[in-house]
Order: sequence, then structure tokens, then C-alpha cells
Amino acid sequence: MALNYDEIVRKYEKYIFQTYTRQPIAIKKACGAVVTDVNGKEYIDCVAGIAVNNVGHCHPAVVDAIKRQAEQLIHVSNLYYTEKQALLAEELSKLAMLDRVFFCNSGTEAVEGALKLARKASGKKEFIATEHAFHGRTRGALSVTHKEKYRKPFEPLAPAVFVPYNDADAIRAAINENTAGVILEPMQGEGGVIIPSDGYLKEVRKICDEKDTLLILDEVQTGFGRTGKWFAKEHSGIIPDIMTTAKAMGGGFPMGAMLAREEVAANFVRGDHASTFGGNSLACAAALANIEVIKKEKLVKRSEELGDYLIKKLEGLKKDYVKEIRGKGLMVGMELSIKCEDIVNKAREQGVLLNCTSESVLRFVPPLTITKEQLDTAVSVLNEI
Ligand SMILES: *Cc1c(COP(=O)(O)O)cnc(C)c1O
Repeated sequence: MALNYDEIVRKYEKYIFQTYTRQPIAIKKACGAVVTDVNGKEYIDCVAGIAVNNVGHCHPAVVDAIKRQAEQLIHVSNLYYTEKQALLAEELSKLAMLDRVFFCNSGTEAVEGALKLARKASGKKEFIATEHAFHGRTRGALSVTHKEKYRKPFEPLAPAVFVPYNDADAIRAAINENTAGVILEPMQGEGGVIIPSDGYLKEVRKICDEKDTLLILDEVQTGFGRTGKWFAKEHSGIIPDIMTTAKAMGGGFPMGAMLAREEVAANFVRGDHASTFGGNSLACAAALANIEVIKKEKLVKRSEELGDYLIKKLEGLKKDYVKEIRGKGLMVGMELSIKCEDIVNKAREQGVLLNCTSESVLRFVPPLTITKEQLDTAVSVLNEI
């Protein structure tokens, strides 16, 4: 017998670390942009697992690839060569325009790899990061994550300096003889969907070149079509020295990667870094199918078009509490003059899942496969609220 909502919650309360604030629904299944809870209630999903389910929930091509791979080979470790990892590395290297790939299982793990690589390549220890940056929860990634509340209890962390986002001169001024690298999100996600001005990343690239400092771009959230490009760096035309990605990489399957230019990548030699599960056959099969779906269904273009559509619709809302609407592709933030928790709760009651970040920013990161009608419904629910 399937557990009901109360039974599920009781087990969570008894057995699971209480580190998350969860919405009061238990989800049973999902398809495309629709999620169904254990009571059979359906929701239009504008969260998509936090920018994970770019191809929609349980895309049949991803499900099929996982099924077929699971019957053939799930895991053997990186002691051996496997076909799917080889194919995915080639594909990803081309899409990201970077030479080499290290596979891992999450965003924070990709960032750990990037920081280690930058330290080894530069022979230096300190990172420059930006205010409101989010790079993950493990020690290295946490040391370049800005929020004091996340960092404070775990200090001392690795040395890092924070400068304002979207201020290239601040980076220029902060780089010194101890700087191992600069780490940035091309668009800030958790920080409140913050888009830098045109030219910022280009300028940062130029500064890093002049000062011979490594540039790490964290595309964990912005990858795989989310912002209307394969990776958000394409909006600026720059190539970083090191890049991280994860969230949407495996079509919902846990998967991450760190990529680098050849000269930088060459600093990691056998034994310098490893991950037991990194690039296992099941994850790689899911990621390959995911990439194929994004190509076949032209989801990168769709993200751009639907993003523009959504922003226009949101701009048509009553303006009472709206401070600003901003976004690129289907990564859209609506900053309010009030906290957005109540709105998230009311929307959920009316069948729309929304996410709130930085307390007052409603974040829309739906599947890139969502229909205009589904977006219309979500916006009209919001309008009523
Ligand atoms: C989510 C996120 C991370 C952390 O990813 P996890 O898979 O949760 O470890 C890192 N960087 C950015 C930009 C993110 O959005």
C-alpha cells in the first residue's frame, strides 16, 4: 500500500535531517511540465527541480535511454573505459567549447574540482568571488558562496574575497599575487536572478588575461538551454578557463561536469582528482539522451522565445508589488517589494509550483518544453493572487 501524505511526512520528521524547508505536498509522479501529488492533485511546474528538468519530467527519450542502459551496464568505476562516457565527453566538449571534461555528480562537486584545478594550475590559494554568489555547500564551494548564514558556522573556510557583482573594476582591484582565480556565475541564480550588464563578462575576461588569472564560470544553473543559449557564456562570447555545470545535465539524473582549456586541464595529472560515480554509464546515457532531446526539439531556441513571452506576460500583471522583472530565456525573476512566501503558498494551492529566492524574488525556471497555455495559466493564477 502506498503511503499517504501524513505517513510520508512523519517518516521525514523522524528519520531525515531537518535541513530543508519543504512545501507541504508529497509528489508522486510528473510528466512534461505537470507534477502530480499523492492525492492526485496536479500542478504546473515553474520550478522544474530548480532548473533541472529542462526537457520536462520523465521525457520518454531519457526514460528509454536509462532503461536500456540499466539493463546493460550501470557502473564500473573509472578504473575502466566505457563507451557512453567517451561519447558524452566529446559532445559536451563541443557544446561548451572547452577541451577537456571531468565528470562528477553535482554542482558543488564540479565547483570543488574547478577550485582544486585553479589552485594547482596557478600555484596560488585565494579566490575572488562575487556578492550574492552561490556555488554550493561543500567546503570549497562554500568558501566562495556569499551568504554569511551559510558560511559562518563552518569557518575557517578557504581564503576568498567578495567583490560586488557586475563591477569589473572591483575584480581588477582585488586581483593580487595570491589570487588563484576569479569565480562567477554568468547570471546569478540563487542570488535573485541577476543579469550583469552587457560587456561585464568580456571585461572580466580581459582583466583576467591581462593579470594572468584564471577565470572560472559556474554554469551549474544556466546550462543546457536554460537562458536561451546552450550555456549563458555565449551571451557574452567569452570562453572561460574553467567551467562547471550540473543541474540540467542528466535530464533529471544526478550529473555534473567540470571543463577546462587544454593548458589548464594539463595541470591535473593522474591521481590529482577522482570521483567513484563520476561519469558512470547510467548517468552518461541519461545525459546523452538529454542533449539529443534539447537538439531535436530545438529547446534552446524555444527557451529564448518562451522567455520573452513570459516576461511580456509578467509585465502585463498588476504592478502593485512588482519592483522589477528580469531574465534571459526561461530563467526569469520577478522582484517584489514584499516577501514572496505567501504568493508561493497561494499559487501552490491553486495548482502552480513557483520558487522564491533571496526572499523577495519569484523565480521562474520551468521545463523548456512548457506550453504557452501552461505559462498563461501560471501567470493568470499569479495575477489573481
Ligand atoms: C545549484 C548550484 C550549485 C550547487 O549545485 P548542487 O548540485 O546543489 O551541489 C552551484 N552553483 C550554482 C550556480 C548553482 O545554481
